[in-house]
Amino acid sequence: MKGRIKRQQALEAVPLWRAQDDVVCPLCERAIPPAQRDAHHLIPKSHGGVQTVWLHRICHRQIHALLTETELARQYQHVEALRQHAELAVFLRWVKTKPDDFFERTRKSRRLR
Ligand SMILES: [Zn+2]
Ligand SMILES: [Zn+2]
Repeated sequence: MKGRIKRQQALEAVPLWRAQDDVVCPLCERAIPPAQRDAHHLIPKSHGGVQTVWLHRICHRQIHALLTETELARQYQHVEALRQHAELAVFLRWVKTKPDDFFERTRKSRRLR
C-alpha cells in the first residue's frame, strides 16, 4: 500500500522546488528571488481558498490587474487556466524576456478600474 502511494506521488510531482532557495514561478517558469516572492491564493481567501502558490510579485499583480476575485474563484483556480488567459499569456511572453528580479508598477486593466 505504502509503495503504491509513493509511486503515484512520483508521477504527479511537479518540480516547482529545485532547491530550498530556488523557487520557480509556475506562471512564467523563471526562478523567483526571495524579495520578489508573493503568495497567491488559487481560490481567493474571500471565497474560502487556503491553497497558495509562490509567484513573482509582478506576475501576481498582473493576475489581479486582469481578473476579479469572482472570476478567479470560478474560472481561474488552476495555474494552467491562468496561463491560457489571452492577456496574461501576452504578459508572460513579455516578462520572460526580463531579469528574474524585474519589477515595475502594474496598471490595472481599464475594465476593472
Ligand atoms: Zn493573488
Ligand atoms: Zn513569474
